[in-house]
Amino acid sequence: MIIGCHLSVSKGFAAMGRQALEIGANTFQFFTRNPRGGRAKEIDADDAEKLKAIMRDNDFGVILAHAPYTLNPCSDNERTREFAFEAMTDDLKRMELFPGNLYNFHPGSHVGQGAAKGIEMISELLNRVLREDMRTTVLLETMAGKGSEVGGNFEEIAEIIKNTELKNKLGVCLDTCHVFDAGYDIVNDLDGVLEEFDKTIGLERLRAVHLNDSMNFLGCRKDRHQRIGKGAIGLDAFERLINDDRLRSLPFYLETPNELDGYAEEIRLLRSLYRENN
Ligand code: FE
Ligand code: FE
Ligand code: ZN
Repeated sequence: MIIGCHLSVSKGFAAMGRQALEIGANTFQFFTRNPRGGRAKEIDADDAEKLKAIMRDNDFGVILAHAPYTLNPCSDNERTREFAFEAMTDDLKRMELFPGNLYNFHPGSHVGQGAAKGIEMISELLNRVLREDMRTTVLLETMAGKGSEVGGNFEEIAEIIKNTELKNKLGVCLDTCHVFDAGYDIVNDLDGVLEEFDKTIGLERLRAVHLNDSMNFLGCRKDRHQRIGKGAIGLDAFERLINDDRLRSLPFYLETPNELDGYAEEIRLLRSLYRENN
């Protein structure tokens, strides 16, 4: 089972690798820069090599870099759209130090311009940023559909992919709290939800799962993460989800409200529910 959690990049890359090991993880997620935006620190090549050695020696799965929340390719403000372009270009350049891993972003908020316009602008950004020679897969995260968020249903994600030229560089990250809050009933009808995902986007695009319980009810469009088993999704649903044949080999990342020891506990719990031979 490939499982990890969100870690802070503040002490560097090798430090995240060591932290992951300490809590029983074999992958992790991190923000490429301050989640509220701003400049990213230069990556120390030596530090990068150390992390890669840790990953090799301990059979890590792919790691997931998360773009800052402020990145909004479909803002009505040109400066904000330009920041999205600059930040993503820079992040993907830096990710080449870690070839073959994942980069995830929130598609964006159309701020009243309409979903169709938003989708068009998001694909426009991807068409400017993606390059044939890059070795990172860029993931669109499924969203809760809060406010004017784009990506709160599978159709919108599919449409963004359809309008992007280098589709082979694109994948999807399914966030359990987000899809539940968006109205996809992964508690009572995981099969139906995954079938719909397959029909609309294609399961071969699904490359990562964010494991979060939800503080609110199905379809609430809120996006408030809860600890695993402590929210409206519940532990039984997570047990089914992590063992599902369509999901079980994907990397799972926790983004639950926890400190490190809480994450260690959730990882232990989920590993205990995971059936090595299904
Ligand atoms: Fe996210
Ligand atoms: Fe997420
Ligand atoms: Zn969220």
